[in-house]
Amino acid sequence: MRTATSALELVRPRTVKDALVLLREDPRLVPLAGCTDLYVAVNFGTLNASRFLDLWTLEPLRRISLQGDMLVIGALASYTEIIKSRHVRKQLPMLVESARQIGGPQIQNRGTIGGNIANASPAGDTLPVLAAAQATVVLRSTGGERRVPFAAFYTGYRTTVRKPDELIVAVEVPMQQGRQWFRKVGTRAAQAISKVVMAAVRDDRPRVAIGSVGPTVLRVPRTEAALANGSIEDAARTLVEEIQPIDDARSTAEYRRAVTANLLRRFWSDTAA
Ligand SMILES: Cc1cc2nc3c(=O)[nH]c(=O)nc-3n(C[C@H](O)[C@H](O)[C@H](O)COP(=O)(O)OP(=O)(O)OC[C@H]3O[C@@H](n4cnc5c(N)ncnc54)[C@H](O)[C@@H]3O)c2cc1C
Repeated sequence: MRTATSALELVRPRTVKDALVLLREDPRLVPLAGCTDLYVAVNFGTLNASRFLDLWTLEPLRRISLQGDMLVIGALASYTEIIKSRHVRKQLPMLVESARQIGGPQIQNRGTIGGNIANASPAGDTLPVLAAAQATVVLRSTGGERRVPFAAFYTGYRTTVRKPDELIVAVEVPMQQGRQWFRKVGTRAAQAISKVVMAAVRDDRPRVAIGSVGPTVLRVPRTEAALANGSIEDAARTLVEEIQPIDDARSTAEYRRAVTANLLRRFWSDTAA
């Protein structure tokens, strides 16, 4: 049943510090960024929360910058801002590619990278990019800041190490040396949730990350090792054993295994010297 919006309360802090104090005082407050995921939950009546912390006006969380070799993307950066950013275009073109394929223009204008990370869907399209790029999630509370490697951020299906009094403030991405590649397979070109989504980087030690084939976004170390040895067919065989897709409303496990192996082959041929 749809949640009555009149029963909901929106708290609007002026600064990031105020937001963190509010969150410490009431850890049940639900952070709200672009609201593209939250609104769906409110609309379907599946959200067991009534107080929201509106982050949208906190400009410092929106910045995208280059700090030395490190690309720092504020949690509130929208997909449109990511697509336009010269830093992201230069350092992390596979993120631009994924942002272009998320929803339509309305979702790209409101949806944020921090929301995609925190929402923790195994089908989140930026997540394989961040996993393959070996990003770090920056969490902040009134007690200070901590950095969590992306590979350690998810603990299971839709669960993360974020504590209730913490906000994701940014994601840090080190300089990428190899060729970057991104591909999303969905029912149609736009406005589709991924059946399989893959991001990969090809250098001496190839890195491959995949969404929608397990409870969280996955890196596939055995497949990566086979790629490093130079055998794409060995790697494709290893990959179908290494992923854990399921049958669901969007696809079947069998289809997902076949498509994932094909994507790996495509990655390898597209990035050949
Ligand atoms: C029509 C439609 C199409 C879509 N298409 C796609 C698609 O193609 N690919 C895709 O990956 N997603 C898609 N989405 C999902 C959604 O747009 C993205 O996940 C988006 O990035 C969510 O960001 P947001 O800012 O709107 O998050 P919100 O809805 O504001 O929040 C989502 C979750 O993250 C938490 N949160 C948000 N920001 C923070 C923060 N800084 N710190 C801690 N917690 C935080 C919230 O509490 C909530 O739990 C679609 C959604 C819709 C409605």
